Amino acid sequence: MERQIKKTNLPELNVGVVGHIDHGKTTLLSKLSGKFTDTHSEELKRGITIKLGYADIIIYNDKGHYNTKKGTPERYISFIDAPGHEMLMATMLSGAAIIDAAILVIAANEGIKPQTKEHFTALQAKKIKNIIIVQNKIDLVSKEQAIKNYKEIKEFVKGTIAENSQIIPASAQQEINIDKILEELCKLEIPKRDTTSEPIFLIARSFDINKPGTKISEIKGGVLGGILKKGKLKIGDEVEIKPGINIKKANQQVYEKITTKIVSLHKGVQSLKEIGPGASISIETSLDPILTKADFLTGCILSKKNILPEITHKLKIKYELFNEVLGLAESQKKKVDPIKAHEMLMLNINTTITIGIVEQIKGNELTLLLNIPIVALKGENVGIARNISNHWRLIGFGEILQ
Ligand code: GDP
Ligand code: MG
Repeated sequence: MERQIKKTNLPELNVGVVGHIDHGKTTLLSKLSGKFTDTHSEELKRGITIKLGYADIIIYNDKGHYNTKKGTPERYISFIDAPGHEMLMATMLSGAAIIDAAILVIAANEGIKPQTKEHFTALQAKKIKNIIIVQNKIDLVSKEQAIKNYKEIKEFVKGTIAENSQIIPASAQQEINIDKILEELCKLEIPKRDTTSEPIFLIARSFDINKPGTKISEIKGGVLGGILKKGKLKIGDEVEIKPGINIKKANQQVYEKITTKIVSLHKGVQSLKEIGPGASISIETSLDPILTKADFLTGCILSKKNILPEITHKLKIKYELFNEVLGLAESQKKKVDPIKAHEMLMLNINTTITIGIVEQIKGNELTLLLNIPIVALKGENVGIARNISNHWRLIGFGEILQ
């Protein structure tokens, strides 16, 4: 019991795992969350945490040896699973919106690649200062190659927020230095959490946890997964979700907010009465699960009733462009052309992705008309991507003005 209480009070951190294709992100994540199989079966029974709980771990310190099984519990970590290398830049950015820290995986045998640069720039632009660099696949290189690669990484991060980040040589596959990475995760600074403002919950996932054939009387309401950025939420709270659902009204597509009630709250395998900002959580609502099925509400924001601003199709931002288009191979290097009137851009705001047509450009300010309306919160970071040869490429960042 005492241990349980301790566990619920652990410092919490949301950590993203990023890096180039095949550099070992998924392998590393599975090794870091070593107890995956047990958690999995337990969660299968519980149903509710299956999607989010997957990569939640508690790090223990066993007389200086960091692990996920025994010793004194030190930290609760929610890994935000980067959905593989195919990962769209937009998905990466949505993920970056909800992380406090990141592990940048660089394979020692390949070094810095286009996606390494792209992801790293996105982390910088999202002002993620807590970065651990894992020099992976160390088992594949000679000592000389490892040193050369280490120097290359040092050069890459010179003058950036990651200048003094730890670079941990490791082999995810051979399980070398996994404990060192866990130890480093315990050293990262925990950001200050704002528990007094009105709640802002960013929906990163939504799902229906009922198995086919569940009796009507036993059907669970729709479940939302994501991050409480600030404030508190408790069981019984009447809440509002915006932009909500897209419906047809008088031949027009409009968005209508959804109101519901919090039925239960979960963090990993724990059920809680009240939750403050920290690790990933899941919220069971009284909504018809049809509404939350298959990530239907991903990108929406939840708060208490009458707190969120009206949704808007018009967005005004101040922006900055990168010099170079990110994510391209060295041979395809390309400068970023200025933004033009009427051009179509993809925007990422929190966990939302929308398309905007440029209506007006004035100095470093842009006004855009959005195809999907958003909840525009002043000061929020906006990722700007342009379609270049059929790929959305990150070209700059902005901030919502109002
Ligand atoms: P991701 O695309 O970054 O998620 O990379 P994966 O985790 O899918 O790994 C890509 C390939 O590299 C897989 O075949 C892994 O087994 C392999 N791999 C991952 N880590 C290591 C490592 O440390 N050493 C070696 N030799 N192979 C690794
Ligand atoms: Mg992967």
